Amino acid sequence: MVEPTGHVDDIVSAVRGAAKRVTVAKRTVADVLVGATGHLTADEITQEVQKRQPEVSPSTVYRILEEFEALQLVVHAHLDQHAAVYHLAGAVHGHLTCEMCGDTIEIPAAHFDALSKDLQKTFGFLLDRHHVAVTGTCHDCQRRRRSAP
Ligand SMILES: [Zn+2]
Ligand SMILES: [Zn+2]
Ligand SMILES: [Zn+2]
Repeated sequence: MVEPTGHVDDIVSAVRGAAKRVTVAKRTVADVLVGATGHLTADEITQEVQKRQPEVSPSTVYRILEEFEALQLVVHAHLDQHAAVYHLAGAVHGHLTCEMCGDTIEIPAAHFDALSKDLQKTFGFLLDRHHVAVTGTCHDCQRRRRSAP
């Protein structure tokens, strides 16, 4: 797990710095994101927010996530066919998702450096290391497959 970085106060002051209103709902979404240890979808973020502030609607949470993304405080990633997951922008990393068990391993984005350079040089293409997971088969599933009758 890549350590989450960021503080609620940093997020709140970035929102204020962009001349946006700071609301209890925004503060709560920020708090949930800072405290999150895994990958939360917008629905999961909504559930966490509503545990603390039941009056905050899902559409409010979605709008706040969009605003945070526009302010580059938050990024989202697609780990598999399911809903996007959200991260604080300071915690950007690569994802390896196993197609068999659905587990996701987080890896430092630096692992994509060589590939990133090569793609840029050969195709003039700038790789986004975070947005979409690299899929494959994890170590355990490979072992399980090999030992299957
Ligand atoms: Zn996307
Ligand atoms: Zn697996
Ligand atoms: Zn992640």
